[in-house]
Amino acid sequence: MAILDIRVLGDPILRQATIPVTEITDEIQRLIDDMFQTMHHARGIGLAAPQVGRTERIAVVDVDDNPIVLINPEVVQPSSGKAKGEEGCLSIPDIYADVERPKDVVVRAMDLEGNEYEVEATELLARCLQHEIDHLDGRLFLDYLSVLKRTAALTKWKLEQGKYPGFIRRTALETPEERKRHEHPDEEL
Ligand code: ZN
Repeated sequence: MAILDIRVLGDPILRQATIPVTEITDEIQRLIDDMFQTMHHARGIGLAAPQVGRTERIAVVDVDDNPIVLINPEVVQPSSGKAKGEEGCLSIPDIYADVERPKDVVVRAMDLEGNEYEVEATELLARCLQHEIDHLDGRLFLDYLSVLKRTAALTKWKLEQGKYPGFIRRTALETPEERKRHEHPDEEL
């Protein structure tokens, strides 16, 4: 397994739509293993393929020690009720904002064996799944903010982005102190 570099805001790959997976090869299995290792190393609870520079429609999440592999995931049923919660993103370190989303969702995806399954999610898992599926469609949580709040977040990001030359966050090289500094009471996805 390997800890992969994380692409940060400004890398065009974060704005591209992903391509559905047609065959779960050994290489895809390895990518998923690496994504879990990278996410855990970075202390995140979700990670999508574009965040590690890949174009496959794949994400991994791990909320409350419940690791889930999502291949070709789609939200099939969002609830009409909404919930607001603070979000962060491993690709936009140190920036956080409240985002309103459907409170509950049903997500359909494929597992590592190629079997289709559905997961009914509430609370943090529902938020995390929606955040990751957004990544697979080239959407970021900043897109949901008001112009005023998005401008404030981007102004703060301008001060941060110099730490990531080439829009690359070298997670493997970050010291435990650096990773701890990125930690936040609210989760990064
Ligand atoms: Zn994210």
